[in-house]
Amino acid sequence: MDIRANGGIFGILAAQSDGPIRAAPVLIRGMDMRIQLEMHLQQGNHLVADGAMGSMLQDMGLPAGTPPEIWNLEHPEEVASVHRAYVEAGAEVILTNTLGGTRLRLDHLGDLGARVAELNEAGARVARRAADGRAFVAGDVGPIGELMAPLGELQYTDAVNSYSEQARILADSGVDLIWIETMNDLQEAQAAIEGARHATDLPIFCSFSFTRRSRTIMGVTPEQVARTLWPLGLAAVGANCGEGVEHIPGVLQAMKKAQPEAILIAKPNAGIPHLEAGRTVFDLGPDDLAAYAPRFVEAGAQIIGACCGSTPAHISAIAAAIGNQR
Ligand SMILES: [Zn+2]
Repeated sequence: MDIRANGGIFGILAAQSDGPIRAAPVLIRGMDMRIQLEMHLQQGNHLVADGAMGSMLQDMGLPAGTPPEIWNLEHPEEVASVHRAYVEAGAEVILTNTLGGTRLRLDHLGDLGARVAELNEAGARVARRAADGRAFVAGDVGPIGELMAPLGELQYTDAVNSYSEQARILADSGVDLIWIETMNDLQEAQAAIEGARHATDLPIFCSFSFTRRSRTIMGVTPEQVARTLWPLGLAAVGANCGEGVEHIPGVLQAMKKAQPEAILIAKPNAGIPHLEAGRTVFDLGPDDLAAYAPRFVEAGAQIIGACCGSTPAHISAIAAAIGNQR
């Protein structure tokens, strides 16, 4: 069956079901979505992911320095409108606004650790409502923001516990998968995967940020990521954020070579940022970024989206470039 001709996986699901997909009980729906997602990817199909959240919220008035997670409670309509714009643009998987949502990270961001449950629950709720059964909802999990011991103070077990807590809250709030993203440190990513796996049997995606030298800022290589983390039971692995897009095909090829069965993610920034009249601007417009999408696919990527500096227009162009238009 040609999924693309039917407008992606949600076109197929909608066509085959007698009613709205989300009419099924949540628990069964959760299991079902998991099987659907894994089958879709294992059959070699593509999935369009969303783009930036933080910069979109800043355009709507989120003050710089305010943790975006706060807006899940205080401005849910604004967060929902970003999610909806990405779904309308063709995103088949959207990430909750919970990148900084571990208790340890929230504590750094503004003494918010005690609110870990309500902020993550609200993030999942807003995203699920906006997706409305037309996109998978990924519970977004990001770096704690501290160096792991012995370089820094963060102990491995504390990291595992913090990641496990966030993943459990997101899973209990009905997300379809856990997406650990923007990672730099192999050990921290291992802690995140271990924590998430301890909390839930939902599929886990994990993506790292690479510089143009195809290393993370901690010196981790794509080969190390794929070889070390894929055997932990990931559903997808790859690259997000990072320094531009030129290095992304090479990063994907290196991962594929190290771990041929790996299902790969490409979710790069909209190029390189620069300052224009005091404002951060990324140098690739929607068509410029989308022009790379076929190269990501050629290099093995099955999940393709965008990160910092991207907008729904970028996602729409990417969806068109890989034939997954809504
Ligand atoms: Zn980014």
